[in-house]
Amino acid sequence: MSDIIHLLADSVANQIAAGEVIQRPASVVKELVENAIDAGATKIQVYIKDAGRTLIQITDNGKGMSPTDARMAFERHATSKIHDAADLFSIKTMGFRGEALASIASVADVEVKTKSTDDEVGTLIHISGSDLLSQEATATPTGTNFMVKNLFFNVPARRKFLKTNTTELRHIMNEVQRVALANPTIAFSLYHNDSPIYDLPYDNFKKRIVHLFGKNIGNSLVPVEVETTIAKISGFIGEPKIARKSFGEQFFFVNGRYMKHPFLHRAITQGYEKILPKDLIPVYFIAFEVDSSTIDINIHATKTEIKFENESAIWQLLQAAVREGLGKFNVIPSIDFDQEGSFDIPVSPKSSEGISMPQVKIDPTYNPFEEGESVSVPSRGFSSNPDKTNAENWEKLYGGPSQDFAIKPEPENEQSSFIEHGSNAPVERGRNLLLFKNKYILTPVKSGLMVIDQRRAHQRILFEQFMVTLTNEEGYCQQLLFPQTIEMNHADATLFETMMPDLNAIGFDIREFGPGTFIINGIPGFIDDSNAQNIIETAFAKYKESGGNIKDETKEKLATSLAIASSIGYGQQLTQEEAGSLIDSLFACQTPNYSPTGKPVIEIMKLEEIEKLLK
Ligand code: ADP
Ligand code: MG
Repeated sequence: MSDIIHLLADSVANQIAAGEVIQRPASVVKELVENAIDAGATKIQVYIKDAGRTLIQITDNGKGMSPTDARMAFERHATSKIHDAADLFSIKTMGFRGEALASIASVADVEVKTKSTDDEVGTLIHISGSDLLSQEATATPTGTNFMVKNLFFNVPARRKFLKTNTTELRHIMNEVQRVALANPTIAFSLYHNDSPIYDLPYDNFKKRIVHLFGKNIGNSLVPVEVETTIAKISGFIGEPKIARKSFGEQFFFVNGRYMKHPFLHRAITQGYEKILPKDLIPVYFIAFEVDSSTIDINIHATKTEIKFENESAIWQLLQAAVREGLGKFNVIPSIDFDQEGSFDIPVSPKSSEGISMPQVKIDPTYNPFEEGESVSVPSRGFSSNPDKTNAENWEKLYGGPSQDFAIKPEPENEQSSFIEHGSNAPVERGRNLLLFKNKYILTPVKSGLMVIDQRRAHQRILFEQFMVTLTNEEGYCQQLLFPQTIEMNHADATLFETMMPDLNAIGFDIREFGPGTFIINGIPGFIDDSNAQNIIETAFAKYKESGGNIKDETKEKLATSLAIASSIGYGQQLTQEEAGSLIDSLFACQTPNYSPTGKPVIEIMKLEEIEKLLK
């Protein structure tokens, strides 16, 4: 039998390697941008046509290559970054495998113009499908300019596998975002079909975040900083209010390189445990600096997963840093009575003098039998008259003698707890609002204790606002600094198009960008702009569920869906002022008692019921 084993041609071997390294246009962008960073560039321009199918061009002002290096660079395992195996343990550059250029050149048509600092004249090389077509001298500035054309022209299966332009472009934007965040002191620009997507000047980390994600996120960042011998951790975490249902603003970097790290992600989410509902993901931008000999970046071909030697120690450090950050910026309430939630103790501004804050203490001298039938007053250090009733003491504590706490039931209010439209809130200014479990607002009213569901209340308010703007078609639109895109399948897109005129009448500015792709340029002034995309997506899902068909009800359904999607949630901590204005807006509503889906917003626990409880 004749021998059957032979060596693969280099071009075939390169194509196989390319399958691993170059999956889509975004992989080319990543590799070329990383090379530019390694070459010491301070300015990197990325120019894309047709989401990278036709052209990916990357220009840098780095150190460039000599004519020989420029040719060598395309050989497999050709790298200037490591010399021997020992170097693998102290990698400080982005690349080191020497595979990227060989892989790219095997599946595309590549032209590179480059000139090194020491040379007078530059080099122009043209390689297509691993074949060197030409190499000549050319005039070009110091630095490197790669043009990658017709990616996967010789691998039809790969080319077919590419997703829509929008998806491929989004992958490219993600790659650029990651390197741009990891390298704020390098200026980046990204153009697609001649329109600018990013134009990022030399920045610091925070400003770079703002440039990429907008002021809204920028204004809600809490710095995080720890330095130990194992690691230096720095960066920002988002306040709970900007947390989202879907991933998008979660970034880890290690030694200037983006990484995914599900394990460390949990250290962060656990740091937020008590202040964020489980389905919300906190925003974070965290950079680790560690000794490069303590990490293994080689475990994944595309190098986004990184293994730390001291993983559990770093986990602890990170979680502590997150908690400290949240605590320092008062994101975590300092009074935490029960372990699952927290509530604020309201102090009435008009009568807080001379009254100490209540403290939950056990009075060891207290004996319930000593005073027979009468209700005893737990010692709180301000009661000089032992004959006073509990109610009077609480009254004193919460704002002196006021109608709100009158022990005698008000007959006219006993009949119904139903609150009339347009009635002024039955709660006074300087009122006592107890924010309970980040879910309910409790406040005394004449007939008892009023309990307001914060989420439903906000839904009701937004619903009525949406209805007004929908009917008058005069929504005030606030332009987004960074337009957001939504993508959907054909069927959804068709339904969504029918919603668009109404959405735009309310104050959204949404336009179709391509088949199944919509761009949100602006949102109604009264909703929070950090979540535009999320709001539209959730509202659309709700709208679909409710089967938005019957003409008459369309507006209501739309308003309901939008109200649900853009309202505050449970677990969202309100300040006293916020809770106060929520109540004011609620009582200005037509139907304050019910949420747009018909659930109760307000209930009053009658005084008699409370009294009954304590009989
Ligand atoms: P690696 O980055 O892993 O070394 P690549 O195939 O990406 O492998 O690049 C091969 C070599 O080509 C690099 O080691 C570097 O010396 C050179 N090179 C690539 N891109 C550039 C660039 N933009 N500027 C200067 N040199 C470059
Ligand atoms: Mg490289």
